[in-house]
Amino acid sequence: MKNISFIAMAAFFYLAACSTEKSDNQQKSVSMKPIDPHSYARPQEVAITHLNWQAVVDFDRQQIKATATYKLDRKVPDAPLVLDVNGLTIHSVSDQDGQPLTYTLGDAQPYMGRPLSIDLHDSTSRVSIAYTTSPQAGALQWLQPQQTAGEKKPFLFTQSEAILCRTWIPIQDSPGIRFTYEARVQVPAGMLALMSATNPRQMSEDGVYTFTMPQPIPAYLMALAVGDIAYEATGPRTGVYAEPSLLKKAAWEFAGMEDKVAAAEQLYGPYRWEVYDLIVLPPSFPFGGMENPRLTFATPTILAGDRSLTSLVAHELAHSWSGNLVTNATWNDFWLNEGFTVYFEQRIMEALFGRDYSEMLATLALQDLKATITDLEAKGQLADTHLKLDLAGRDPDDGMTDIAYNKGYFFLRLLEERFGREAFDTFLKQYFEENAFQSMTTEGFLAYLNEHLFKAQGVPVDEDLYQRWVYGPGLPDDCPQPVSDRFARVDSVLQAWQSGTPIAQLISQEDLFTKKWSTHEWLHFLRHLPDDMTTDQMKELDDYLQFTYSGNAEILAAWFVHVIRHHYEPGYQNLENFLVTVGRRKFLVPLYTELAKTPEGLAMARSIYAKARPNYHYVSVNTIDELLNWSDESRPAS
Ligand SMILES: [Zn+2]
Repeated sequence: MKNISFIAMAAFFYLAACSTEKSDNQQKSVSMKPIDPHSYARPQEVAITHLNWQAVVDFDRQQIKATATYKLDRKVPDAPLVLDVNGLTIHSVSDQDGQPLTYTLGDAQPYMGRPLSIDLHDSTSRVSIAYTTSPQAGALQWLQPQQTAGEKKPFLFTQSEAILCRTWIPIQDSPGIRFTYEARVQVPAGMLALMSATNPRQMSEDGVYTFTMPQPIPAYLMALAVGDIAYEATGPRTGVYAEPSLLKKAAWEFAGMEDKVAAAEQLYGPYRWEVYDLIVLPPSFPFGGMENPRLTFATPTILAGDRSLTSLVAHELAHSWSGNLVTNATWNDFWLNEGFTVYFEQRIMEALFGRDYSEMLATLALQDLKATITDLEAKGQLADTHLKLDLAGRDPDDGMTDIAYNKGYFFLRLLEERFGREAFDTFLKQYFEENAFQSMTTEGFLAYLNEHLFKAQGVPVDEDLYQRWVYGPGLPDDCPQPVSDRFARVDSVLQAWQSGTPIAQLISQEDLFTKKWSTHEWLHFLRHLPDDMTTDQMKELDDYLQFTYSGNAEILAAWFVHVIRHHYEPGYQNLENFLVTVGRRKFLVPLYTELAKTPEGLAMARSIYAKARPNYHYVSVNTIDELLNWSDESRPAS
């Protein structure tokens, strides 16, 4: 996943149940497979190995009616099958012969849902569960036609990471448990259905689609999208899905996907998922992208019109190795998914566009990381700045901060700088190959690192390094420092402007428009504007550079922070339009945070949020409700 919130939300609920009935002895015997604090499943007793999912998607009722049938690996004969469910209505549970099985539903815990425990007979080899999802299912976003680009048909998409798969499929919802799947999905005629699986490229006449996913995946990679969607190939192994009115634009923007797959394979070995497609979702998608295997889900906010935001594609593609192939064992090891992916993303971008390009990305990553550490330190959440997290009793979304992404990236970059690129690349390639389709704990990775990098290179193991980077807070002193000449040039323009040279003159001198600063350079510029800007200075910039009217969501989001901070009223209307349309949490959090700093801003935030909230996905709503202290009473009178 790419682009997370700046703010790690506070812990609130203590988790009572969850696998605690196991004795210490039992826990020790499975110590290589850690208990996942965010799942009720007991895979060491009974594990699912294959899912057959038969589903009907009902847009009128905003629910999915389905039957999920599992093949089982029964390791302890008398043990029940325990699945995670959250908000599902269970109609029946039966075995391979259609005979009913007894089951119990445990108590519901906030965000965890409840355990569904199914008693198995000696002869039980398969279990079928007939169920219906709730219209409030956290993973499912049902969009009205007017919330889509085409405005004629509704749209549905899922977001299962971290633990939302259980809101639409009863499942062992832990990243350490893998299964293959097949599916048959019925949607209204005239709509296309897509999953994280082999996908259709054309609409069927009857609205029925079948899917297979032969490679085993964890539950958080289960995905479904349904809408008025068309396909265009961008190469032999790559293609783009989008609403028809966006398809041409999307196919142009992502034309470089085939090259990115080739560059990635060059670095870390063969792409194991056959095809790599991408779907551009409606703007309410809460993330930049989600690495659903074979089909990345992406926000339309990366359609910048100049291919400048496609590092996101490199990121989601890199997950085909780090995350989807070698998977964090629990959400406490999330940095193994995201830190590796940021590292890999930057290597792909460097291979394709050069070091001066990737060093801009690295510099922005360091800026984000420092801001996140400052923020978490101010809140006293020092433990959340460790790479290895302890999220037991908390929503795993709390761990989805820049720490996992960018502190993880700089730790790997430090290893690269210490051992040299050649040795580090050989190590990483071997790591992905030897651990393919398996899960990995932080401790497992460090042991692998000791063996295959330190010892292999004849270097003594450096425990102090791990204590500081993996198990310690903040940013260690030996953090690598990216060097960007292109940003140095931006700094000199900023400096000259601050000492009084009009921006118009600087632009013509620097020839910015013909030299074409990339989005990254503009972001660096916007992030370093002085805190004490006057309205006249804001106006001067806006008149010449037209930030308020930019078609680039990254630039808009960075500019609107200043619009709020400096009460720049000409920007207010477009700020509101942006917040009402775009549901990407990475943009929403800093803007609502900035608004909430003053009483007038907070009033404005609440009035905008009242209009915008129905357009946001559950994961964004969850975050912004908290941020604005939102309840039905805080809704402004209209
Ligand atoms: Zn990611």
